[in-house]
Amino acid sequence: MLLDNKTLLFSLVLISGLMAVSLAVVSRSGARDGLRTWALSMGLESLAWALISQRGGIPDAMSILMPNLLLAAALAMKLAAIHEFQGRSWPRWKCLLPVALMLALMVLLEYDDFRGRLVYGGLIYAAQMLLIVHALHADAELRKGRAWWLLGGVTAAMVPILALRSLAAFFGVDHFATVEGAVAPNTIQLLVFVCLMALNLLGSLGFVLMEKERSDLELRSLAMTDFLTRALNRRAFTERAEQQMALAQRTGQPLALLMIDVDHFKQINDEHGHAAGDSVLVEIARVIGSNIRKQDTLGRYGGEEFGVLLPATDQAGALVVAEKLRKAVEAMRCRVKSKSVSVTISIGVTVCLANCERCQSDLHKLLGDADRALYQAKHGGRNCAAIVPVGCAVPRPG
Ligand code: GH3
Ligand code: MG
Ligand code: MG
Repeated sequence: MLLDNKTLLFSLVLISGLMAVSLAVVSRSGARDGLRTWALSMGLESLAWALISQRGGIPDAMSILMPNLLLAAALAMKLAAIHEFQGRSWPRWKCLLPVALMLALMVLLEYDDFRGRLVYGGLIYAAQMLLIVHALHADAELRKGRAWWLLGGVTAAMVPILALRSLAAFFGVDHFATVEGAVAPNTIQLLVFVCLMALNLLGSLGFVLMEKERSDLELRSLAMTDFLTRALNRRAFTERAEQQMALAQRTGQPLALLMIDVDHFKQINDEHGHAAGDSVLVEIARVIGSNIRKQDTLGRYGGEEFGVLLPATDQAGALVVAEKLRKAVEAMRCRVKSKSVSVTISIGVTVCLANCERCQSDLHKLLGDADRALYQAKHGGRNCAAIVPVGCAVPRPG
């Protein structure tokens, strides 16, 4: 036979060990991302396979009992690593439960009963694997990516294979009747070893890719978000505006843009300090964000300037929203060094018309119109909204 169990066992020792070392080297201390726990789990596995491969040469307690306890512990650590990755608490004592169960069954039911051990051992491992798949599947954030499939898929595939081995042992397929069965050529056992190798390789790769997917997402969101107010930054806001304009053009709906500027903001900085000014900006962003619809977009366009995109909103609707925001900010009170600070905003409103191809495709024109409207609001006495008269040179025919 091309593959024999001894070679596969040696490969399992090597793969798990190398995986443990490499993951331990790249994991950061203190990072609660589960990588270190995963590395520890691979280390336990490597040790378990090393002990199993010595069967016959060392006492049964070391080559049968101990490796099974180590394998149960390794699977429990994988589940713990996934919980850590998800930021959920998972007390370490929970990892001892499957180990204690395995120990109890092995001692009670005699661990050199090879056939019995395959049945209940297989059941415990299969249950642990199902818990891992469930923990992955229950995480809606994780399911948005694809890396979890690698780990979840290969773990789930192990369950029927373990069940097959347990059934074969239960119904007395010859190779499982004796202790030598584990290392003698045996199709089902070979299948188990090959799949375990895939579990180690693809599962660990899946776990690392899950981490990568998450940090890619975090980086993308950081690149789009304004650090202070958590609104979209100027670049992301401009990109969103372009997308919304294209959508408005396709659906034939109007798109409104509000350009908001805080009135006399310099005075707030001068009177209360820059840090107080910062917290006022954060509060303004919060108030605006909580007074617009889910489909609307808030962005920090500049220092104390915000932009709001209102899809499917005409001039009348945009003025209503502008007035609502103006009133909400006027009513807002920020506590700064035990003093209450109030601010007002001026709003420039412009609408990209449903029947105008030119204003729906020229972002500069839209931004320029909103700026002109804001200028009018400032000159109109501040704490008010102004709209530029809409009128486009080239209306779309029909
Ligand atoms: P106006 O009513 O004409 O808009 O008056 P203003 O004082 O708000 O206008 P101006 O543009 O002269 O001042 C804006 C100020 O906003 C100046 C700048 O120091 C301040 N600013 C810009 N970005 C930040 C920031 O991130 N934090 C703080 N605290 N202040 C900022
Ligand atoms: Mg300004
Ligand atoms: Mg200002």
